[in-house]
Amino acid sequence: MIDTKFDTAYAAGRFDLSLNILDGNPQIFNLMGMDSYYSIYKMLSNEEQKRVAAAASRCLESPGMQCDECVHITVGGKLCCYILTITLTRNGDAYDIELVNVTNTRNRINELNRRIITAREYIALTGEAVFAFYPDTQRFHLYYVNRQQNVSIFDQNFDEWAAQMLEQNRIAQEDQETFETFCSILREGKFSQTYTFHGCIISDANILERYRVSFQPKKYENEDTIVIGTWAIIHEATGDTNTTILEDSYIDSLTGLLNKKSVMKYAEDALNGINRDHVAFSIIDIDDFKSVNDNFGHMFGDKVIKAVAAVIKNAVGTNGVAGRIGGDEFFIVFEKFSDELEFRNVLRCIKTNVATLYHDQMERKLSCSIGLARYGIGPFSTTYHDLFKIADRSLYLAKVKGKNRYIIYKPELHGDFNVQNDDDIINVSNTFYSETDINALHNMLSDLIVYGTDSVTEVLDFFAHVLTINRVSIFLNDTGAPAYTNTLSPDVPMADPSVLKNVKYLYLFTNNLLAVSNLQSLEFSTPEVYKLLSDTGVACYMQYIIRDREGEAVGLISADVFDRRSAFPKIALTLFADMCRIMNAVFIRENLI
Ligand code: GH3
Ligand code: MG
Repeated sequence: MIDTKFDTAYAAGRFDLSLNILDGNPQIFNLMGMDSYYSIYKMLSNEEQKRVAAAASRCLESPGMQCDECVHITVGGKLCCYILTITLTRNGDAYDIELVNVTNTRNRINELNRRIITAREYIALTGEAVFAFYPDTQRFHLYYVNRQQNVSIFDQNFDEWAAQMLEQNRIAQEDQETFETFCSILREGKFSQTYTFHGCIISDANILERYRVSFQPKKYENEDTIVIGTWAIIHEATGDTNTTILEDSYIDSLTGLLNKKSVMKYAEDALNGINRDHVAFSIIDIDDFKSVNDNFGHMFGDKVIKAVAAVIKNAVGTNGVAGRIGGDEFFIVFEKFSDELEFRNVLRCIKTNVATLYHDQMERKLSCSIGLARYGIGPFSTTYHDLFKIADRSLYLAKVKGKNRYIIYKPELHGDFNVQNDDDIINVSNTFYSETDINALHNMLSDLIVYGTDSVTEVLDFFAHVLTINRVSIFLNDTGAPAYTNTLSPDVPMADPSVLKNVKYLYLFTNNLLAVSNLQSLEFSTPEVYKLLSDTGVACYMQYIIRDREGEAVGLISADVFDRRSAFPKIALTLFADMCRIMNAVFIRENLI
């Protein structure tokens, strides 16, 4: 027996153990003896017994508090997972034990989800909008169901909405009376009715459409009443439902996802809703999609966009909605998750499944980069605009760090994306770099001192990775190719060491070091260098002058960034200077200069 406070108390006969079992399988009862706690306890593994006993001890300290443990019990030859909940009653004289079979619960939830999805498919097939009116709260919610997604058209107080429709002339003059009758009967919440009138409520197109609106009250067991209804746009001539208008207004025709307008509106509504604490925005962009178009044609490109959209839709499931917001750019509004792991699972699933698409037809695997921002995580992360910006910056970071990855924004890791007003210059604060990376880089530099130039490329690669630098080149003279670079992607042009010949330029260095965050600043001091660098597309850089034993400037180390202007934080300069000084010393020692 395990020596815990609980066992001691139990052994002293202090507790009356009662058992409440929620399980679809009656056989579980046969396994129970008179003494339920020990009946269960005996069936557990040693490790689980320890956890359960510890949980029971915790209960002793806080009567009324529930302690949950996950345990495994074999019932009818099948090992099932249970959540065992132990609670000590408030007066401390009895334990409540509750066992919930997670396997059954999971199956039941899956079954319910399947039913919901099927019901949604039916509604989507009718091409009609649907609505719900809640007499208790007077809320009126008119929305469009697109398979797994609800797209709100209106979601507000019913009277306000009706008044707005009349004020904004969205109901045809001659049908205003019918509309008012519809409103008053719906408001009563007692009758089923159908009305037909003209207006421009659904498609936002300012063209009068003909609507057929039917509704019926639904009373639930708990006495709540909801009036549910359908809102169809019908052909003027035939009276048939016109299923295309809704599709055209809300859906991206290539992928079947929401279009930009509707997913953005959805996102804004989600942030105004009661579940906003769970809202997260994610932006996904296919990597190097231009080369897919270039190599295989636009039609194939379209197929790829469609396939990526399907991957996203499947991965998101009912946990949010997805839309297409640009050529190869997608947007997800998550609404259900509270744990980072849940986001990670979906993003990982997207990343892995995208890699399998058309893999037999393409030389390079298809990949995408993803940024994700959660409501309330980090400063300025509660409005639509700010949250979108953080997600976008995270995506951008994923691209800069080498693509084919997802970045879930964390202020402690990525710094504050929103503090700088200048939209062009990304603020890369000290916290941007992880402590582990910096330590690892220092270790590599120590190795360089000990083992010499063998590991230069490795150091440059890691340095570029940690500081998100695109190109690092080391020149040991002022012409020709660099002696060392990091591993470059094929589209990055070679750097040019001829700047070393420009004496005016060398004056700009302090302690052999120069950092340029905005190329423009060179325009007046050294226009030739400005021209040279802006032609190659460098956006910002750090450089270090390599000197020989005599102190002559003989070479250059240049760390270049192409796709962002960035104020290099002090720590980046320090790391760069440390690395360069060590390399300079090693080059001298090995007589390379
Ligand atoms: P990156 O990794 O930086 O995202 O590079 P990228 O090549 O994917 O570049 P970017 O995302 O900027 O470019 C997207 C390209 O998608 C530009 C455009 O030619 C192409 N595109 C835009 N809309 C469509 C479309 O509907 N169909 C196809 N086939 N291509 C499109
Ligand atoms: Mg792209």
